[in-house]
Amino acid sequence: MPGFEVFGDEERKEVQDVLDTGVLFRYGFDQARNGHWKARTFEEEFAKRCKVRYCHMCSSGTAAVHTALAVSGVGAGDEVILPPFTFVASVEAVLALGAVPVYAEIDETLCLDPDNVRRQVTEKTRAVMPVHMCGSMARIEELKEICDNNGLALVEDACQSIGGTFKGKSLGTFGTAGCFSLDPVKTITAGEGGAVVSDHEKVYESIHRFCDHGHDHIGNDRGTEAHPIIGFNYRISELNAAVGLAQLRKLDMILSTQRRNKEVLKRAFSQFDDVIFRTIPDPQGDTATFLCFFMPDEKSARDTVDGFKKEGVPGVFYWYANNWHYHLQWEHFASLSSPSRLAVEALGRELPHASANLPVSDRIMARTVCMLINLSWTEDDLEERIRKIETVFGK
Ligand SMILES: *Cc1c(COP(=O)(O)O)cnc(C)c1O
Repeated sequence: MPGFEVFGDEERKEVQDVLDTGVLFRYGFDQARNGHWKARTFEEEFAKRCKVRYCHMCSSGTAAVHTALAVSGVGAGDEVILPPFTFVASVEAVLALGAVPVYAEIDETLCLDPDNVRRQVTEKTRAVMPVHMCGSMARIEELKEICDNNGLALVEDACQSIGGTFKGKSLGTFGTAGCFSLDPVKTITAGEGGAVVSDHEKVYESIHRFCDHGHDHIGNDRGTEAHPIIGFNYRISELNAAVGLAQLRKLDMILSTQRRNKEVLKRAFSQFDDVIFRTIPDPQGDTATFLCFFMPDEKSARDTVDGFKKEGVPGVFYWYANNWHYHLQWEHFASLSSPSRLAVEALGRELPHASANLPVSDRIMARTVCMLINLSWTEDDLEERIRKIETVFGK
């Protein structure tokens, strides 16, 4: 997962370009920037890579999700269907719009179960937001079909799956808009940053405006801009964009390293009958940031995680008990704990409680163990890890 492992001369060079001009900002200063447009260049290169018409960088993945939902028309009182296994940011973005997060069950892909999503659609539903968790994808074609049949926006939270594809098509490009994060622990990092992609010109016009106080970005040097819509300041700085650009150019190397390392570990795990691997709808499109598997029950999953801890193996995650990633730990959402009154509260809407009834997701997550795949592992590191895997499973 972590692009920070490969921070090097390439990143330093891009940042130095920006420092040399002193134009640390993505807009304006057209002459002084000496031809360096780091955010714009990232956007062009990433859009090309994803075979999508538009990309816009912003200040974080959270800003990207907020923006993508807003430009999809999600507003006060609307319902957004999303999974209970994600990062809190997905839920925060829905609440920030005054909308109501509605959880649907996940399946063995660790992403939204389309059959359950279908059952959660009401006349208030405005969007479905699958989250491509832990480097792999949701059953995106089926989810798209549900959205198309019901007139709903499809917003993909692909923050954890940059570079992933389904049947050759980039994750994030299936619906109205797709979101990516370049935060410190993502596949590629900009320090902090995010990006929104879309194939729809009108949507894109709203995206870049929303991220910059509604400015239309028409003309040079910002002199003639109008602001046709209301927005925020979700601009990325050129310094962050410069790091992101260097990292983007390493993405293929990162993915191939992860895939190779994951394959080696997968072979080691497959010796054990108790281990069932996560379902990956298109294994070729997996970014291989994590190796996730199911144990027979909660106890064996917890024992496995404890076993790795005892062996001093880092990067083993039990998301079921993790307070950033699973709904059972999100009491603050259930109690609407916020410094200000939330719109949903004012609307008299109830939020899905932290003890929301999601028995299928709970059963799956209680059995799920994920191992982070690193880039910097040497052959010796991999061999040692395989030995420890065999120790933990009692071989
Ligand atoms: C990281 C992440 C985000 C938010 O990204 P930031 O850049 O940290 O704001 C949103 N959704 C998911 C699924 C994430 O993993």
